[in-house]
Amino acid sequence: MTDQRPKTKRPNLLAEVFAILVGMRTTLGETFKPHLTIEYPEQKSVRSERYRGRHYLRRYENGLERCIGCELCAAACPVGCILVIAAENTAENRVSPGERYAKVYEINMLRCIFCGYCEEACPVQAIVLGPEYELSDVGREQFIYTKEMLLEPSPQQVPLYAGKKKR
Ligand code: SF4
Ligand code: SF4
Repeated sequence: MTDQRPKTKRPNLLAEVFAILVGMRTTLGETFKPHLTIEYPEQKSVRSERYRGRHYLRRYENGLERCIGCELCAAACPVGCILVIAAENTAENRVSPGERYAKVYEINMLRCIFCGYCEEACPVQAIVLGPEYELSDVGREQFIYTKEMLLEPSPQQVPLYAGKKKR
């Protein structure tokens, strides 16, 4: 008795391999391109000079604070997350070159939208948004950035916002 079943065609091995290679064309093409991923957090991507990250309060080169407590930044902030309480400079306690200085300066970073309006509004370039973007924390209260946290170190130390162009 003869076998009546239809004979199956034998696969052409070369055609099969070629089909797989065609299917993997994109994958193979990407394999030999330079890698774009970086080993974060050991490596950090470069920020644009115009990047708006964490805020800093700057000083003059003689160590005086630039902020004169005028509150223009707070007025310009669209979400109302800046608190400035000014105090008078005195001969014994001169903090800034102006009549007043910021006794209290706070930013609620949870409300901040990093628009940069505060930086634009400041008449003495005291408040700047630097390149730092790693701002995560574990509690809400840690996101109230106080003047002590924001203020640039004295001129002998490296500026915290290194990388941001000074105006
Ligand atoms: S960046 Fe914008 S939202 Fe943030 S503190 Fe400045 S003005 Fe307010
Ligand atoms: S940071 Fe600038 S705009 Fe804000 S209170 Fe100080 S001087 Fe005025």
